[in-house]
Amino acid sequence: MLEVDHVDAFYGPSQALFGLSLAVGEGQTVALVGRNGAGKSTTLRAILGLARVRSGRVVWNGTEITAAPVHHRARAGIAWVPEDRRIFGHLTVAENLAIAARPGVAGGPWTAARVYTLFPDLCALRDRRGALLSGGQQQMLSIGRSLLLNPRLLLLDEPSEGLAPAVVAGLAAQLRLLKEQGVAMLLAEQNPRLVLEHSDYLHVLEKGSIRYSGTPAEARAAGGAVERFLTL
Ligand code: ATP
Repeated sequence: MLEVDHVDAFYGPSQALFGLSLAVGEGQTVALVGRNGAGKSTTLRAILGLARVRSGRVVWNGTEITAAPVHHRARAGIAWVPEDRRIFGHLTVAENLAIAARPGVAGGPWTAARVYTLFPDLCALRDRRGALLSGGQQQMLSIGRSLLLNPRLLLLDEPSEGLAPAVVAGLAAQLRLLKEQGVAMLLAEQNPRLVLEHSDYLHVLEKGSIRYSGTPAEARAAGGAVERFLTL
């Protein structure tokens, strides 16, 4: 479904990604693991068209989209859950969801009602303003809003960041439900447990290059292949 093929990405003159390649298949969860500054967000931005790709290709369902405008990729089914969540603090939960539902994508399977079924806590909080939600509740709302674009692929940038362990456990369960509903995910994370327990395949990034790739079982058998790159 998604192929990133030998991508070099830059911020001005400074290179952030070096020949990065990965693939995400239909319904798959693929994780990108690495410390701060490893290049996880830049990889997601390159896929979205928000980072400058100087060489290499991004291919979506057989069509090259390396230079396609950002809105084209969103319409084609790639949605982003950014690290800073971007909730409208002065709007209620229901209003945040209502403005995400675009007429152009109406008729897809995701509706506000279905988001509330996935995240019952949000349903109970539908009249609360975004600014008054906890970090975990904001994360649910941010994911819910992206789902209303009816994506085939969800790019999640460090969804567990700043959340208490019990809240991360809840988030993990929700990601599992999403996977069961057929949503493919590319998950940028620093939380090794979340990645090892919830991805089909993982890549460890360091300094803009992939240092290790494998299934979680292979990474475990390789003796801390993931943790090693997070704790140095
Ligand atoms: P983090 O969790 O800190 O965002 P990350 O793994 O997502 O980590 P990136 O944000 O992709 O890492 O950063 C990769 C490299 O690109 C780093 O060296 C970083 O300093 C640099 N970088 C990121 N954003 C910019 C920017 N807007 N301008 C210049 N350099 C940037």
